[in-house]
Amino acid sequence: MKFRQIPNWTPGYLNVCPRHVDIRVRCEACGREKDFDRDAIPGRFHHSLITEIEERLKCECGEKKAKLLFGSLSAN
Ligand SMILES: [Zn+2]
Repeated sequence: MKFRQIPNWTPGYLNVCPRHVDIRVRCEACGREKDFDRDAIPGRFHHSLITEIEERLKCECGEKKAKLLFGSLSAN
């Protein structure tokens, strides 16, 4: 599966991000990328700014330099 990011676009808030948009999280420190499950985020964050959520995500490498990427996963 290949992830294509929507260039220069962010929904601003998590709760207004359309369901057909796939979200990935990338660590700016180590480059790790993985799927982001919006349903795993506690309810109190559903109305949070994307940037506020990014600040709270901690990578396996220990850094908190997460970046949420919005786009779509496709087979080719
Ligand atoms: Zn990392």
